Amino acid sequence: MASPASTVSTAHPPRPFAIPQRGSSVAGKAYWAMAQRVALTAAAIDCGYILLFLWLGSVPLALVNLVSIGMYLGAYQLIQRRRNTAGILLIWLEVIVHSALGSLLVGWDSGFHYYLWLFIPAIVIANSGRYAIPMVLALLAYYLGLRFACDHWGALAPLAGKGQQVVNTIHVCIVFGMFAALAAFYRRTILIAENRLLKQATLDALTGLNNRAHFHTLAGHTLTRIQRTGEPVALLLCDIDHFKQVNDRHGHAMGDRVLVTVASVLARNLRESDVIARWGGEEFLALMPASPLSSAMEVAERIRGAMEQIEMDCQGQAVPLSMSFGVAQVAHGDDLQAAIARADQALYQSKNNGRNRVTAG
Ligand code: GH3
Ligand code: MG
Ligand code: MG
Repeated sequence: MASPASTVSTAHPPRPFAIPQRGSSVAGKAYWAMAQRVALTAAAIDCGYILLFLWLGSVPLALVNLVSIGMYLGAYQLIQRRRNTAGILLIWLEVIVHSALGSLLVGWDSGFHYYLWLFIPAIVIANSGRYAIPMVLALLAYYLGLRFACDHWGALAPLAGKGQQVVNTIHVCIVFGMFAALAAFYRRTILIAENRLLKQATLDALTGLNNRAHFHTLAGHTLTRIQRTGEPVALLLCDIDHFKQVNDRHGHAMGDRVLVTVASVLARNLRESDVIARWGGEEFLALMPASPLSSAMEVAERIRGAMEQIEMDCQGQAVPLSMSFGVAQVAHGDDLQAAIARADQALYQSKNNGRNRVTAG
């Protein structure tokens, strides 16, 4: 006897917790790996139950558990072969039938019905209300019908002595564990989704640098912190020279490769404490705390030299690279926007004076 892994979702568009297709995402893989673990764990638990019921003298329940092991192993195999829906349905069927047979044979108080409770979070998490409400109501009707049948007929094959309490206690312990495992799985799923959304909202998808909006947030924090210490802050704005030609001559994919390379050169040459962003198409901006203008100029010069040294080629054709820089000091109490405008003006001068150079604003 074990829990339902979750429920079958047909909701559209897909919701975060709808059953994912195998291999479609990290969360999807985790879900199906979890479903397989559930099937194997349940089969192992059922092996223990066979011994328990033989010891308690209930051959019918031992046989039910033997069939259950077959169903769980079948579900495991189905999921292994990517027949996910069939695998999950087999797990559901096992839990529904097993809880009924157990309750009818040894009585309601044995607690076989606890396993049905696990369907409630599984159904609600994986389905929209349109599907979840009728499914939960059907489950409730089944549950109450089973209880009514148990009250009506009593235990058909009662266990001797304290057998029922022993079985009940074991069921309580297992169901506690399963609820905890289910909650932990969904907690992990939420954290993974949260992390992915956070990255999408704050980072540039191509280069992995901060995006413009996140730059403002981080720069705001840095400037607030620095206002107390009074340390000098510099801004470095840079732009790839004649980048359009790279796209035109070698294609957009090559242009993308150049952008990724430039981003990694910037990240290597700036400090952990510097806030770097992809400011626009082929423009990058860095806020450099604890940097007077002179050292920011030195850093910019170093990066400019490093860019010149990069040897990229596209199908045997060399792709020469150079960058122009504008550097500005952010004065104490200065408006960030005004400092960025000064760096932009300096960059404009670098471009006008022939590119591949550093200018202070
Ligand atoms: P300059 O030296 O004056 O900066 O000239 P430039 O060609 O670098 O500048 P321009 O503004 O004329 O062209 C920038 C090009 O950058 C145009 C645009 O198609 C390209 N671009 C912007 N974003 C991306 C991107 O994400 N990937 C690729 N491959 N190209 C991009
Ligand atoms: Mg450019
Ligand atoms: Mg540009």
